[in-house]
Amino acid sequence: MSRFWSPLVHTLTPYVPGEQPRLADLVKLNTNESPYGPSPRALAAMHAAVDDSLRLYPDPQALDLRTALGKRVGLSAECVFVGNGSDEVLAHAFQAFFAHGAPVLFADVTYSFYTVYCGLYGLPYRQVPLDGAMRVVVEDYAGPCSGVVLANPNAPTGIALGLDDIRRLLALQPDRVVLVDEAYVDFGAQSAASLVAEYPNLLVVQTFSKSRALAGLRVGFAFGQPELIEALTRVKDSFNSYPLDRLALVGATAAAEDEEWLTLSVGRVIHSRATLTEGLESLGFEVLPSAANFVYMRHPDRDAADIAARLREQAIIVRHLKGERTAAWLRVTIGTDAQCQTLLAALRDILHRNT
Ligand SMILES: *Cc1c(COP(=O)(O)O)cnc(C)c1O
Repeated sequence: MSRFWSPLVHTLTPYVPGEQPRLADLVKLNTNESPYGPSPRALAAMHAAVDDSLRLYPDPQALDLRTALGKRVGLSAECVFVGNGSDEVLAHAFQAFFAHGAPVLFADVTYSFYTVYCGLYGLPYRQVPLDGAMRVVVEDYAGPCSGVVLANPNAPTGIALGLDDIRRLLALQPDRVVLVDEAYVDFGAQSAASLVAEYPNLLVVQTFSKSRALAGLRVGFAFGQPELIEALTRVKDSFNSYPLDRLALVGATAAAEDEEWLTLSVGRVIHSRATLTEGLESLGFEVLPSAANFVYMRHPDRDAADIAARLREQAIIVRHLKGERTAAWLRVTIGTDAQCQTLLAALRDILHRNT
């Protein structure tokens, strides 16, 4: 509390990111970063860009990056928006599209930043319950609203909807923007980018932070028809003309063009996910079917917070989210195969101890 604060600041409940501990030698499975490095071509492009040209502002339109991103999915640059991490893209989208008076709809168990943006922009929202199997039920998103946000695959559950479900959702709300947050789509779900030309109310948001292993670079992007992209650009240019610096622009452009590296890296994660899931199930965990680079799991007779604390004692960090519907669950990032083995060994040890 401070007399210097705007009244709004008193009301904010900010997002709490997973911790970034300063300890070395941790098995860090709490924030869904990639265990593998970024594309070597992206690193080389950034090294080459460290020169005198940094005295100049970057391209405010980010045209090369938007062109490269559009090309992958058959869209022109005018259908692509880029921002400082997809969190920033999401924030602009909430402000640009969701202030129609009615609530914004999203799942009761999903990315917890959505409620934070609603708080920041004073938007009412309604959290639509997942079903008993922790799945999104598309039909529950009908009726008056200001827009719909769907993480697909959902976080923290990892469960993905198919494109037929996305089409039904878009048809339920033809006069509202349906934002599909595809932070994890490369790990096994179908992207709705292919539907953008067909649906003027669709905005697809993706990031370089997860599958492209560039969380430290802060680059996110969106696909939508030019009408939606123009709204985001208006908000952006009323906020920060240069959200992406020169290094981020060249690094992300090179990463976007390195299809081979993406396929290889994602393939390794998917392979490890299958092995880890099997190992966890053999220890008695219930593991939701994941299309992401993490698994969501619970044990029928062990306390999740206790497991997380004991893992931490062994320098393994996983994510435990408090809250009625999430307290029994742990979210575990897929690490290298060696990290997955370390995790399984630690869990085996914890479960076999009695206290
Ligand atoms: C990680 C994540 C983001 C944010 O990604 P950044 O591009 O790093 O800001 C957005 N949505 C979901 C569901 C995520 O898990």
